[in-house]
Amino acid sequence: MCKGGILILNNLKLTSKNICKLAIEVGFDACGIAPIHRLNDDAHYMDDWVARGLHGDMTYLERNCDKRYDPSLLVPGGKTMVVCLLTYEHSGRDYHRRVKSLLYALEAKLKEVFGVNVVSDTHQHIFCDSAPVLERRWCVEAGLGFIGKNHQFIHPELGSMVHPGEMVLNMSIEEDVCLKEVPHNAACADCNRCTEVCPTGALRSEVWDARQCIAYVTHHCLQCQIVCPYNNH
Ligand code: SF4
Ligand code: SF4
Repeated sequence: MCKGGILILNNLKLTSKNICKLAIEVGFDACGIAPIHRLNDDAHYMDDWVARGLHGDMTYLERNCDKRYDPSLLVPGGKTMVVCLLTYEHSGRDYHRRVKSLLYALEAKLKEVFGVNVVSDTHQHIFCDSAPVLERRWCVEAGLGFIGKNHQFIHPELGSMVHPGEMVLNMSIEEDVCLKEVPHNAACADCNRCTEVCPTGALRSEVWDARQCIAYVTHHCLQCQIVCPYNNH
């Protein structure tokens, strides 16, 4: 039944709160929802960043830009981004596999409760570090946290050591208290621990230069996350 634009099946409304509840039930640590739209500010910033060569060897950022900035081009008909987080602690060695398996479990539940049309049957709509999706930005759009001075997404309670996974839904969602339950007052404020500890000075540059960051080059640096108070509750 569709009442006032809201899908109601099995006495459950397709609301952000109900989706979050199902996401936690399948094993995610947090979940948020955002209406899909083109990320104009990010598009402007990234086009300039890439044009200046600051993305280093991440040449994939030069491709699929339109889809990266607007997920409705990646998944035609996509209206809502569901963003789920899994902590490093719960994701095991192969986080792609774990996050995707939980997303498929969530998809199965959503289809069971709200019908199969809740997702596309022709386009891939589940992602984890595997498609042109601006994951950190969507984490913020979904109300899950903020991007810190260390350029990491930070959830106020789980910290930055989290793996995001996304699912694009074909339906619009009624906003409800789920989004507002996430504390929004978190931020770096006058903390500078990460900029001080960074061995290369990468976090002190006015514009982020991936070529200066050891993690982007060798994947072996977590210092700016280890010192962050949000990872040391
Ligand atoms: S990962 Fe290491 S090199 Fe990169 S910004 Fe953080 S502390 Fe600096
Ligand atoms: S260490 Fe401090 S400044 Fe850096 S991201 Fe964490 S809270 Fe923000």
